[in-house]
Amino acid sequence: MSAAYPHLLAPLDLGFTRLKNRVLMGSMHTGLEEADGGAARLAAFYAERARGQAGLMVTGGFAPNPAGRLGLAEEKLEAGSGEGHALITRAVHAAGGKILLQILHAGRYAQHADLVAPSAVKAPINKFTPRALTPAEIERTLDDFADCAATAREAGYDGVEIMGSEGYLITQFVTPRTNLRADDWGGSFENRIRFPIEVVRRTRRKVGRDFIIMYRTSLLDLVEGGTTWDETVRLAKAVEAAGADIINTGIGWHEARVPTIAHMVPRGAFTWTTQRLKAEIGVPLVTSNRINNPEQGEMLIAEGHADMVSMARPFLADPEFVRKAAEDRADEINTCIACNQACLDHIFTGRVATCMVNPRACREDEFDASPAAAPKRLAVVGAGPGGLAYATFAAERGHAVTLFEASDRIGGQFNMAMAIPGKEDYGETIRYYRRRIELMNIDLRLNTSATAADLLAGGYDEVVLATGVTPRRPGIDGIDHAKAVSYVDVLLGRVTVGDRVAIVGAGGIGFDVAEFLTHAEGPGDPAAPDIDAFLEDWGVDPALADGGGLRADGPQMTSARQIYLLQRKTTRLGAGLGKSTGWAIRAALQLKGVEMIGGVDYRRIDDDGLTIAVDGVERLLPVDNVVICAGQESLRDLYDDLVAGGMTVHLIGGADKAAELDAERAIDQAARLAAAA
Ligand code: NAP
Ligand code: SF4
Repeated sequence: MSAAYPHLLAPLDLGFTRLKNRVLMGSMHTGLEEADGGAARLAAFYAERARGQAGLMVTGGFAPNPAGRLGLAEEKLEAGSGEGHALITRAVHAAGGKILLQILHAGRYAQHADLVAPSAVKAPINKFTPRALTPAEIERTLDDFADCAATAREAGYDGVEIMGSEGYLITQFVTPRTNLRADDWGGSFENRIRFPIEVVRRTRRKVGRDFIIMYRTSLLDLVEGGTTWDETVRLAKAVEAAGADIINTGIGWHEARVPTIAHMVPRGAFTWTTQRLKAEIGVPLVTSNRINNPEQGEMLIAEGHADMVSMARPFLADPEFVRKAAEDRADEINTCIACNQACLDHIFTGRVATCMVNPRACREDEFDASPAAAPKRLAVVGAGPGGLAYATFAAERGHAVTLFEASDRIGGQFNMAMAIPGKEDYGETIRYYRRRIELMNIDLRLNTSATAADLLAGGYDEVVLATGVTPRRPGIDGIDHAKAVSYVDVLLGRVTVGDRVAIVGAGGIGFDVAEFLTHAEGPGDPAAPDIDAFLEDWGVDPALADGGGLRADGPQMTSARQIYLLQRKTTRLGAGLGKSTGWAIRAALQLKGVEMIGGVDYRRIDDDGLTIAVDGVERLLPVDNVVICAGQESLRDLYDDLVAGGMTVHLIGGADKAAELDAERAIDQAARLAAAA
């Protein structure tokens, strides 16, 4: 057992049961809840995390009754369907873990027509308007919460988490923003918190004393008309008195316009809220949001921010997070980089969640990690995310791997991503692969441009080309002018950019470059984030003067440069960005005054700047530089010669398809190829 994390790894005694450490795997909806055979796959998913030593886990949210369903898809694994859940609990217990069922009533966030809420107030992020619950329906809903908890107990769960944050039904009762009732369930604060208190009280009465009730409360609503700090404290105390064993915490309603878990949120950006609540309550308190490494978890508990830390996505990225920390192998943890690309963005587009840096997540049965029957000698060319994933997966299966990289470092495009302020954590993926290369004894050859002749003469059984991409040079008049620079040179610090800049191309990289150029300084140290600056930027008031925790004068962002972001398409700029992060990326640039122009016809780059035309009307953008972010073309020069030489060659990542250059696809493709090698 590691001596490095004595607080994080200390057991937590709840009286009737004991948790093996202070790490909570927070609730995540995976999409397996609705999938055919989902219960068995969820059982495998949770069991793997239990074997990885998670102290306590929480399932995705299950509705206590049909009206409370989120309604994103048909639920096959309903809260009441005991046998499917028993599969999960048996697998978790066999692996030595503990698991809670989360009970979530969506209220006005439900994506179906039969939605209900305290009052008929439509959510700004939902097309459906809820119907106000009658007093009799409120009573029934309270009993449904308690009955659901009893069913969870019968199915073998160790307890339940009652979802009272993020803007779902319970929070809708608590705030006057959504509770306009004039009866005993609305009006005064005492009336508005009757619903959560009754949920906890009736649940406790139904399940008995020796069953964990964790209540997740909202510490910062981040919406106008949200709860005040005084009310938040009073609610937490009341919930404790009603019978909760643990208080978990949530930040921000889903309709809030402040990012709470995306990459631009610094690590531990909101733990000051639990630190403030901790002295007020007696039961263990859990802190959450952008916690992704054991050092940080240890510090948060040691310094009194909370009694437990909740991490959800970090357990998608690495099921063995806790075990590695406990065995002094924290440098082997595959860190969640908060990209949201394969987890939340999958869920929001109707796909099963997984993880960009760990494609096995939620697909544990699809990747053969067993030793290869016939080990081969494999050459991998290119040490970007795809090449790294292939090399390390293949070496893990017993193949002898030589990894060639033309530059002096591994990481490929991630070296550029980590240069963007807010994306510093991408460097953790490079650290993870660097360590795996050492552990797997991969023959890494940096500064080596492998030639086809070398590869053909090297005695390899197969070659994997992960040679990536080269930036596209569009045929704009004046493209050779000194003002025109490539995004690669900008992000790698090879050129200095002036105060007025036009960006040609508004894909993921155009947006990244715009964000980069709005900052006077480069990326910071992710382990020592400037949380105050983040809160100020997004208009969060750390003094919590008003309900909801927002500043009256709003976000306070400025840009270091005057920036134009351009594309030829007439569609909304950034339409292709991830669903869960795109809105925040766009909002930040808009708040910083970046001018976004679509439908652009590029005319020329010259000493005066960049001349464009929109709807046939010419306009000179008097810029010092034009940064070209016009996509990429595949680099696969070696392919034909290798095939002609009789070599078995595989193309992966950007070398395979530049049009869809995407680390998620590259890593997934690499892992599947390695599983089949
Ligand atoms: P991209 O998404 O394909 O965007 C290329 C941009 O260049 C488009 O705006 C395109 O718009 C423009 N363009 C294409 N050909 C052009 C030409 N001949 N002349 C002028 N403009 C041209 O490529 P990317 O931005 O380089 O991103 C590559 C990949 O990196 C993405 O697909 C994504 O997977 C990944 N990435 C994602 C993110 C993110 O989502 N946050 C961030 C970074 C990277 P028009 O054709 O309309 O002008
Ligand atoms: Fe974290 Fe990205 Fe993986 Fe989601 S996809 S768990 S945000 S690394």
